[in-house]
Amino acid sequence: MLDYIVVGLGLSGIAISRNLERRNRQFVVFEDSSQKSSLVAGGLFNPVILKRFTLAWNANEHMKVAIPFYKELEAKLQTKIVYPIDIYRKFFSAEEQNNWFEAADKPLLSEYLDTDLVKEINACIPSEFSFGRVRQTGVIDTDVLISEYRNYLKNEDKIKFERFDYNELQNSEDWVSYKGISARKIIFCEGFGMQHNPFFNYLPLRGNKGEYLTIYSEELQLEEAVKSSVFIIPLGNNLYKVGATYNNQDKDPQPSEEAREELENKLAKLINCKFEIVDQSAGIRPASKDRKPMLGRHPEYKNLYCCNGFGSRGVLISPSVSEQLIELAENDVQLASEIDLQRFSKLTRSKHPKHS
Ligand SMILES: Cc1cc2nc3c(=O)[nH]c(=O)nc-3n(C[C@H](O)[C@H](O)[C@H](O)COP(=O)(O)OP(=O)(O)OC[C@H]3O[C@@H](n4cnc5c(N)ncnc54)[C@H](O)[C@@H]3O)c2cc1C
Repeated sequence: MLDYIVVGLGLSGIAISRNLERRNRQFVVFEDSSQKSSLVAGGLFNPVILKRFTLAWNANEHMKVAIPFYKELEAKLQTKIVYPIDIYRKFFSAEEQNNWFEAADKPLLSEYLDTDLVKEINACIPSEFSFGRVRQTGVIDTDVLISEYRNYLKNEDKIKFERFDYNELQNSEDWVSYKGISARKIIFCEGFGMQHNPFFNYLPLRGNKGEYLTIYSEELQLEEAVKSSVFIIPLGNNLYKVGATYNNQDKDPQPSEEAREELENKLAKLINCKFEIVDQSAGIRPASKDRKPMLGRHPEYKNLYCCNGFGSRGVLISPSVSEQLIELAENDVQLASEIDLQRFSKLTRSKHPKHS
């Protein structure tokens, strides 16, 4: 019998799988490529909310776990995935500059916000009120991470590229069984795909569609990430990601004309050099009602676990909270109530398939 079945191999499933491997647990992953959020993500790890200059939720703790986690994966997969890169926030007024200085005075933010403002970072990106630099930030190449980790699991015979069919899951007191595979426990990491999971779709999952453009510009010659009305993230070879959009209404996984126009217009106002749009991608961020992750054990079926709700910060959050979920599954260590899915247990649960 296996220890675990894992459903989904985005950032959540990777963090769960890698943390299970570190504990020598035996598992198999199911992945059907139905969701693209992790694949198309900008991959930024950034502890600061750049709209208000505040620290993101538990950002210091997440940074301490996330960066070593990805560096260790980089070494294991022998592929570069971690790119340290500064983020420059463009200011729009003297008031914003003052807010930046005030924020940089606060103990938890001072290590991230540089108080030496920069007048010019790039000839193509003018700014009347200069830029502020955020330190210790960077990008995880999620595309490479996912494809390399999938290949690694494939070579280890630990992944099945097929849809997990919830109707085929059998669940008893001490084990679960699925199409002839038995395991002690199952962890669902399906991102927005959780809406189809009859065991956990009572949770208040909110899909938030995000889109990016990839542009080509020989003139731009930018090596840092820039945050203004959009992010510009350098990819190398004169290619840049530009985005992202946030849309709570549109759940169509395909890129839209509306987002393309929005991003193109914002970029044209931000940079004064020529660019060409070469690609566009879209994904649905799995967000929760209160913007905190939703993890934990099913309130009735003790072998069923969920690791979801990472919203727009999966890169930073997933390594540490997935480890907390495994501590719950392995050693019954309770989760912090703010991330425990039990906070939603009063909601009505839908009917589920076979169980005994
Ligand atoms: C445009 C955009 C930009 C973003 N930029 C950033 C960023 O810069 N930094 C950051 O931290 N976050 C960013 N995010 C958010 C980040 O991508 C998410 O927080 C994260 O990807 C969520 O990971 P996940 O594994 O929970 O979900 P997903 O990435 O959706 O992964 C779920 C996986 O489960 C699989 N699956 C689902 N159902 C089934 C089933 N029944 N059977 C088998 N497999 C199944 C899916 O195919 C998928 O691979 C961005 C998101 C978008 C859309």
